[in-house]
Amino acid sequence: MAKKKDLTGQRFGKLLVLEELPDRINKRIVWRCQCDCGEPIDVKGIYLTTGQTTSCGCIKRSLDEEHLRNDYDAKRVDGVAKQLFKGKEPRKDSSTGFRGVAKYYTRKSKEERYRAWITVKGKQFYKSGFLTPEDAYYNGRLELEKKHLPRKDDKK
Ligand SMILES: [Zn+2]
Repeated sequence: MAKKKDLTGQRFGKLLVLEELPDRINKRIVWRCQCDCGEPIDVKGIYLTTGQTTSCGCIKRSLDEEHLRNDYDAKRVDGVAKQLFKGKEPRKDSSTGFRGVAKYYTRKSKEERYRAWITVKGKQFYKSGFLTPEDAYYNGRLELEKKHLPRKDDKK
């Protein structure tokens, strides 16, 4: 039998452990947690203590959205893959208001930062650590465009 640990009141990433649930899942203790974003979520203790689960999923959701945007950017730049997007509405980069700028949180202190990125022919380039989306756009994204975007006469 696994040792029982009381996780009540402990914090794992964005999750605060509220209480132990009476029912086990596969003999694992399940904890009722509250995410910083307000969502309740039930998590197996093992996932909390190993750091596998650190939010209700909202962190992963925002990462997924970022990946989708990068993916779209790749297809937009590459004229061949662009066909795949026929008939679909292009996604808007609305989260920051600036194209190619995404918000993220620093790994250790969870501070808000902005990252400029660009995808050119399937390769991604980043500039991170900007404090504002404006800064990330003008000093990040535009620099990346200058440096990495193929010029018109380079194209086939
Ligand atoms: Zn959440």
